[in-house]
Amino acid sequence: MSITREQLKEARRIVVKVGSSTITRTPNGSPNLLRLEKLVRELCSQRGEGREVVLVSSGAIAVGRHSIGRDTPSDDLATRQAYAAIGQGRLMMIYQKLFAEYGQTASQVLLTQNDLENDETRSNVIATLKTLLDMGAIPIVNENDTASTYEILYGDNDTLSATVATLVEADLLLLLSDIDGFYTDDPYVNKDAELIETVEQLDDEMFAMAKDSTGDVGTGGMATKLSAAKLAVDAGIPMVIANGDDLNNIHRIINGRPIGTLFQP
Ligand code: GLU
Repeated sequence: MSITREQLKEARRIVVKVGSSTITRTPNGSPNLLRLEKLVRELCSQRGEGREVVLVSSGAIAVGRHSIGRDTPSDDLATRQAYAAIGQGRLMMIYQKLFAEYGQTASQVLLTQNDLENDETRSNVIATLKTLLDMGAIPIVNENDTASTYEILYGDNDTLSATVATLVEADLLLLLSDIDGFYTDDPYVNKDAELIETVEQLDDEMFAMAKDSTGDVGTGGMATKLSAAKLAVDAGIPMVIANGDDLNNIHRIINGRPIGTLFQP
């Protein structure tokens, strides 16, 4: 099944994932309020268009670290988990306030890989997410960093966002990061690397092309993004990777503009 960019307009249920590098500042981890405000406005506008929205947001570790005045990231896992426990609440406080300003209800959903592998907890998660969407609330999903460390170590929520998209049977997964899309090579290293506008079929060669472009703040590189794309497209969900530096990209992409890389379902 191949779709055109124009057809993305028809998406009714969308999952948007923002990485830590999009919503917090490097290196001190402070929340980027201008970006957060813009993100919330874009998502509320999508609600206004009649779409259902799920937000998968990282940033808990960075915000927690900043709120206790530690300017540099830590390599110690327990310390990062503790930062997340502090930052998650702060981040939700900001989201609650901003969504409420635009008349929307935000809700917090914290998940672990184990929750999603066990049949009973997985079906509980699906039921809760779908009920929240029926209520018109916006689920804001993060990994439960106290109990689980997968996304802290490898993923920056890339995998989690694709899993959530499959759980809620989304029509579109939008991954916003600090890179414009999927390139033929690492654009930070090779200036001749070219942005790929559409990926029809993910193959081994593409996985080999995906160098791990680990940034300062989040952990997700292109490799985890491609794994996320595989999960999504195998479930029949188109995925777009685009730059979150300009959050107008959300409505532009949904309106069919050729921004970022589209992975065909
Ligand atoms: N769950 C982590 C957070 O919210 C994501 C990991 C990361 O940012 O690398 O901070």
